[in-house]
Amino acid sequence: MGTFPTMSTLASNSSAAPLSTGSSAASRMNVSRRVSEMKPSVTVAFMNRAKTMKSQGLDVLGFAAGEPDFDTPRIIKDAAIEALNAGMVKYMPTLGDPETRKVLAEKLVRENGIPTTADHIAISAGGKHSLYVACQCLFDFPAPGEPPQEAILPVPAWVSYAPIIEIAGGKVIELQTTAASDFKITPEQLKKAITPRTRGFFINSPSNPCGTMYSPSELKALAQVIAEAARTTAPNLVVVSDELYEKIVYGGIEHFSIGSVPEIAERTLTINGLSKAYAMTGWRIGYAAGSGVFGKKLIDAMGVLQGQMTTNITSFTYPAIRAAILKTADEVEKMRRAFADRAAAVHARLTRVPGFKCPKPTGAFYAFPDVSAHFGKTSPGGNGTPGRKINSAMDFCEALLAEQYVAFVPGEDFGGCGKNCVRISFACSIDQINKGIDRVETFVAGLK
Ligand code: PLP
Repeated sequence: MGTFPTMSTLASNSSAAPLSTGSSAASRMNVSRRVSEMKPSVTVAFMNRAKTMKSQGLDVLGFAAGEPDFDTPRIIKDAAIEALNAGMVKYMPTLGDPETRKVLAEKLVRENGIPTTADHIAISAGGKHSLYVACQCLFDFPAPGEPPQEAILPVPAWVSYAPIIEIAGGKVIELQTTAASDFKITPEQLKKAITPRTRGFFINSPSNPCGTMYSPSELKALAQVIAEAARTTAPNLVVVSDELYEKIVYGGIEHFSIGSVPEIAERTLTINGLSKAYAMTGWRIGYAAGSGVFGKKLIDAMGVLQGQMTTNITSFTYPAIRAAILKTADEVEKMRRAFADRAAAVHARLTRVPGFKCPKPTGAFYAFPDVSAHFGKTSPGGNGTPGRKINSAMDFCEALLAEQYVAFVPGEDFGGCGKNCVRISFACSIDQINKGIDRVETFVAGLK
């Protein structure tokens, strides 16, 4: 598996004496089955390849990374630096210091209408960490002869949900969407998919990779389906609402938190973090918020697991979290406007590329055009690379990277109709967007 160190990569990374390789008994040992069967992230793979090519001096234009290109606002950095210099370097309570949990709870009540309290907040090392811990606390492995618990996941979806659900023992039930409906499910689809075994419903609005979002009324309609199912078929159903991109909206649709709907508030876990809204991907800060008696039970369980896993996050970042939430409205708005301009630029260009069908991005920083009109053709070749047959989004991205030095992410691993699409992250300048799409146009014009 690409992400797991083999004996030979460990040896080459080590400054100590080389480890033995080859035919020793140790070299034939395996890592655990559940991890060796896990899919490495395709987004990370393409991002790393683009970075490696760039470091070799090649003029690569990267559109693969799911992270803002902005620096973290100064006031956030200063809060961390001050806390570090003041000696805030010791262990802290596992789920976060009480003051910061309170600031996050108050934000969720004020901005999102979620009925939560400081005791219902679990601060973690990123939204991904919160999702992982939440799934470990929600799903059980089936007893012998029992069917697994199910997790309903609208697809295309962010690549990490399925592995995180599956390693916790859940079975993913995909709900298919189409580009024509902005990659959104309907209440009828959700209703049909819920069974007595349904444990989780995962929703991500604004969406990575789709760049689209649900309206408040659409989310309220889904919430009513959940409320009804919880009363009848699926009493253990929990909604996991991933709202990492809540601040990056620009399509005229208001962000809405499904956990604010009273009938399902107690069975909704809201996941958020500082990575996207505050340009803090490398800081690794996320949080989960529950509500009511069950919400507290779930957050307490997450505390037990995090206590055996990471303890608290880096102590001196707590004041930085408070600074981000309370003092950066202007910077966040500036970044949102920049993303809005880029979304308009990228969409205007993509709709003119022959064979591309691209729903208008309304949130997050991704465009997700369907490029399947080009499957079956052969690429022109370029940059010393011969042309190749394009039969999939993966082939399209491989050829585009090799021949034009443009890094997109192939959509197969996002599931469903994603296999026809490529993900373009426009967390970059408009100049880079224009240069990149110029190259895409050259590439597409040469397809035969
Ligand atoms: N959820 C979605 C939809 C994402 O796109 C990402 C990151 O790309 C995350 C969660 C996790 O972000 P982080 O762990 O940086 O908070």
